[in-house]
Amino acid sequence: MSATAALQAIDSVLIVDDSGVQRSIGAALCRELRINQVHQAEDGVAALALLDSLPAPPDLLIVDLEMPNMDGPELLAALSARHLRSPVIVASSRESSLRHSVEDMGTALGLRILGSLPKPLTQSGLGTLLRRQPGEMPAADETGKATPVDPEELRGALERDEITVFYHPQVEIGTCRVRGLEALARWHHRSLGWIAPDAFIPVAEQHGLIHALTLRVMDLAMAQTAQWSRQGLDLSIAVNISPLLLDRGELVQEISDLQRKHNLRPEQVVLEVTESSLLRELAVALGVLTRLRLRGFRLSLDDYGTGFSSMQQLARIPFTELKIDRSFVHGAADRESLQVILRSALDMASELGLETVAEGVESLQDWKLVRQYGCTLAQGWLLAKAMSPEDFEPWLQRLRTHRVDLLG
Ligand code: C2E
Ligand code: MG
Ligand code: MG
Repeated sequence: MSATAALQAIDSVLIVDDSGVQRSIGAALCRELRINQVHQAEDGVAALALLDSLPAPPDLLIVDLEMPNMDGPELLAALSARHLRSPVIVASSRESSLRHSVEDMGTALGLRILGSLPKPLTQSGLGTLLRRQPGEMPAADETGKATPVDPEELRGALERDEITVFYHPQVEIGTCRVRGLEALARWHHRSLGWIAPDAFIPVAEQHGLIHALTLRVMDLAMAQTAQWSRQGLDLSIAVNISPLLLDRGELVQEISDLQRKHNLRPEQVVLEVTESSLLRELAVALGVLTRLRLRGFRLSLDDYGTGFSSMQQLARIPFTELKIDRSFVHGAADRESLQVILRSALDMASELGLETVAEGVESLQDWKLVRQYGCTLAQGWLLAKAMSPEDFEPWLQRLRTHRVDLLG
């Protein structure tokens, strides 16, 4: 991405600062940088309320550290729980070491931290950061465009069956056997092409469409798994369950109905929930998850490490699997702090009798490290990107020829 392209991609910004003067300075600079929409909030609480009211999150957030009600670090944690994908800049008049530790905190939370700046902001400081590419820019798998999504269009897309499913294989690290696949929603838009889930799942959640979308994804994914099964491939299928759905007792019966309709065994179906989902309505969510587990479905804690589960919470919920977020996996071989987190998460999971999935295995180094640490399954670009069902069997053939390198 060229410098100008990086700047052009930003059309809207949210500046969060309790000082009106600092907000005005920031707003004026953003306008000079040709950012069209400048939103402002005086603290974290106001920022979250504003984000709820916007159809799509702004392309950039500038977050002050010291604010009443909810300070900058607290706001970053809340943004991470909401899976914010927009880049974030940390701004503060405090010492640079403090700014840097907040940057690290944000990155560890899975946010896209562009960097930090001293206040008052300057055009050159802001311009430099905006030209910088964050660790990972848009959505995974390169299928996505981070265009704002219109809820009515999404509703129409669901009605016209434009939402489909791509499949991301999960491979047993010890044997190189494919255990199963994760179903990932994809939208094939008539004019825009493929749109990634990070762009439309939050919109579906905000506009009451997530229930229909999830059932659609599950129906397609289970039908596909049943078809593979008829071809002699015994695979499990993992589906992402939005936190919003854990408030609904009916979910248990709906999932059971689909599983029976497609003639799958319940243990073939893995339901992935994120840590943040558990913090919402713990009692209700626990009830739903326990009932699903009683019926034999497997439960996976997704994006582990980006939220706040304690070991106690983990032990209380009948998970069968821990899925470690890719921010702790890819590149861990070169970073000791990531290794410590990764190893302790894997050790803990094995003590609790859980299976483990490492997400984001992009390189042979990542693969070797998670193997050395005793992780059970790997999912990542080293093995494959998420693919359409037609691509699965040819890929399986190719995997067989690469087994030697992976097992060696
Ligand atoms: P997730 O559930 O954590 O899914 C894993 C994401 O990481 C997928 O991106 C996958 O393609 C990507 N990924 C896996 N390995 C690698 C790797 O080695 N490198 C990189 N850079 N990325 C890798 P995707 O498909 O864009 O999905 C993003 C998120 O969208 C998912 O994260 C999930 O939270 C959400 N999502 C997708 N489909 C659905 C759905 O049907 N329902 C709900 N509620 N959420 C969904
Ligand atoms: Mg998942
Ligand atoms: Mg994940």
